[in-house]
Amino acid sequence: MYQLNQIPSEAQIKKYLRRIIFGKNIYCPRCKTSHTVVYENRYRCLKCRTKFSLLSYTWLNNMKLSLQQFWLLLYCWTIQIPVRQASTLTSLSDITVYEWYTKFRRHLPADKQILNHLIQLDEAYFGGKQGKALFLAKEVGTRKLAYQLVPKDWITREVASWFLEENIAPYAKLNTDGAAIYKEINKWWPVYHTRDIHKKWEFEKTSEIEGMFGVMRTFIRRMYHHVTVDKLSEIVCEFCYRFSHPEMYGSPRHYLENSLYIVPTR
Ligand SMILES: [Zn+2]
Repeated sequence: MYQLNQIPSEAQIKKYLRRIIFGKNIYCPRCKTSHTVVYENRYRCLKCRTKFSLLSYTWLNNMKLSLQQFWLLLYCWTIQIPVRQASTLTSLSDITVYEWYTKFRRHLPADKQILNHLIQLDEAYFGGKQGKALFLAKEVGTRKLAYQLVPKDWITREVASWFLEENIAPYAKLNTDGAAIYKEINKWWPVYHTRDIHKKWEFEKTSEIEGMFGVMRTFIRRMYHHVTVDKLSEIVCEFCYRFSHPEMYGSPRHYLENSLYIVPTR
C-alpha cells in the first residue's frame, strides 16, 4: 500500500505527465510547432501565440488537486480502494473521490471485443425492482467479455440473438443455460449451441460466467457500496474493463498512458 511519502514527488509526476502527453518534445497543441517558450508553468507558442500548460488540452485541465493528491487518488482507484477509504487516505471528501472515480472510469479507452471459439453466455438481474437485466458473455479460458444491459422485459429471443450478432463471431461454440430464450438460437445467428438444464443439476457449461456475475456483484458492493440504476451501465463497463485489461491497473502510469492525450483542438 502506498503511503503519502512514497508517492512520486510533484516534479517527478510532472515529468511523467509531460512524457505521456507530449512525448519527447513539447509542441503547440493547436498548430503542432515545437517553437515554444516556457515561463513558470506555462508555455507559449511562438507561431500562433497559443498559451498552454501541461494539462490544459487534456481532460485533466482545470484540475484543482495537487499532482500528488491526484496520483494517490488514481492509485486508490486502480487498486480498488472503496470510495470511503480513499477519502480518508487522500483527505478529500467522499463526493470529490466519487467524482474523480467517475472521471477515471469515463476516460477508459473504448473496448469492443468480438468473442470467438468457445463462449459462455448468461443473463442476470441488477438493481432491484427498477433494475436492469445484463447479458454477459465470456470466451472460455480467456479474459474476453461482452455485455449488454437492457430493460428487464427485454430478455427475449430477439434481443438475445441481436446480442449474439453484435458480439459473437459466426460459427463459434456457444454454451448457455436451459432458458427458453436460447432455444434454437442457432436459427437466428449461426452458432454451435449447447444448453445446460439446471433442473438436472447441469451447471458445468455456464460455470465461468456465473462466477463472473458473483465477482461483479462483490466488486460493485465493495467499491461503490450502492449503485443507482442510471450508473449501472458505466460501472459494469468499468468492471469488464478491469477484468479484460488487468495490465491497465498495475499503476497510475499505465492507466494514464492509455487514457491521457491531447484533445484535438476546437
Ligand atoms: Zn501554435
